[in-house]
Amino acid sequence: MSGMQAVWPSGTECIAKYNFHGTADQDLPFSKGDVLTIISVTKDPNWYKAKNKVGREGIIPANYVQKREGVKAGTKLSLMPWFHGKITREQAERLLYPPETGLFLVRESTNYPGDYTLCVSCEGKVEHYRIIYSSSKLSIDEEVYFENLMQLVEHYTSDPDGLCTRLIKPKVMEGTVAAQDEFSRGGWSLNMKDLKLLQIIGKGEFGDVMLGDYHGNKVAVKCIKNDATAQAFLAEASVMTQLRHSNLVQMLGVIVEEKGGLYLVTEYMAKGSLVDYLRSRGRSVLGGECLLKFSLDVCEAMAYLEANNFVHRDLAARNVLVSEDNIAKVSDFGLTKEASSTQDTGKLPVKWTAPEALREKKFSTKSDVWSFGILLWEIYSFGRVPYPRIPLKDVVPRVEKGYKMESPDGCPQIVYEVMKKCWTLDPAHRPAFHQLREQLEHIKASELYL
Ligand code: AMP
Repeated sequence: MSGMQAVWPSGTECIAKYNFHGTADQDLPFSKGDVLTIISVTKDPNWYKAKNKVGREGIIPANYVQKREGVKAGTKLSLMPWFHGKITREQAERLLYPPETGLFLVRESTNYPGDYTLCVSCEGKVEHYRIIYSSSKLSIDEEVYFENLMQLVEHYTSDPDGLCTRLIKPKVMEGTVAAQDEFSRGGWSLNMKDLKLLQIIGKGEFGDVMLGDYHGNKVAVKCIKNDATAQAFLAEASVMTQLRHSNLVQMLGVIVEEKGGLYLVTEYMAKGSLVDYLRSRGRSVLGGECLLKFSLDVCEAMAYLEANNFVHRDLAARNVLVSEDNIAKVSDFGLTKEASSTQDTGKLPVKWTAPEALREKKFSTKSDVWSFGILLWEIYSFGRVPYPRIPLKDVVPRVEKGYKMESPDGCPQIVYEVMKKCWTLDPAHRPAFHQLREQLEHIKASELYL
């Protein structure tokens, strides 16, 4: 192996590991945690030309920054990689072999259902400590109590507090990766002390969405403190590390706290969700050009996902956000998956989901195209709820028989034709996003939206 470092291509994103003050005029100073984009390599491969978030360009030292990488698709991230679920005492002892003092795992107790057991290797022997769960608190010694297993593990990692040893090294469950390690490795881990949380700006399925300040930039922060939704949240963050497009809401990074706090930091979209934007401005403010622009913005993002084999599964105007400069960007990747995966249809938004996806869980780029048709209808009706006046239970049977919504008032016929094509019952005959983009661009160029 040669010791030469691979050259980073233009557009590579990096996160600063240290502060860099710069000495020469052409240097670009930065602070630890800043995100920088590579422009080109210089004659000296240890220095790159780069630009920062506000567009300033200059020279940076390669060894002060870390290249950002996406979490590999299919990686199962866990906040509790040491949690092995229902395994027996003997299985636990085998997992902690060969002995290594401080190696530990947590399992569900077989003798006391509902309780847990902390298993720790200590001087050649495995100790099993019962963790009692009572009135929503966890405790080993019934002196110190914890809200969750993460807080308990954090406590005994810093202090043995009566155990045979402090917890030193987690025995990671096969097939999982510690979320914190994986985000750090890819350069996505941010530091809580660089982030100021300012005010609540929304409520999401995970918890509050807050306006924040990260190194002087406005950011949106999704906060979660509840174990139950953590897994879906990690899945969303891990998908977002793999995506980059000017019409997708960009993730800046993640904060994973030892005690279980979890924050997803994204760019701030000052004008909020597209559906609220359309409803509050309405026909008198938003002209045909503007509606077509939003349609094209979303279509661009979807063509990018299509080209990269991602299926969004929850495309709707409520999941599109509008930036300060009126650019629409697709967000909410909570259900987004690589095209090959399956999922249960438990709580799908019926009015937006393609019939074959509701019926046979067949999600594909083509089921996203169906949802895009509904989204176009939402845009051109200024944020109305689809299928007005049809009771929810009647929507699917009628759609299955070929019923399609009427054109929204004032919607150009040529745009309505695009919607109807998206609602072709046979997914194989629906257009692809790259074709829809061409059609919308044609409408724009020929000013047919007027
Ligand atoms: P979500 O959990 O993504 O559905 O977000 C809930 C609400 O929080 C949205 O409807 C927006 O009003 C707000 N919100 C979410 N993300 C952002 C963002 N990046 N910028 C501004 N507001 C946001």
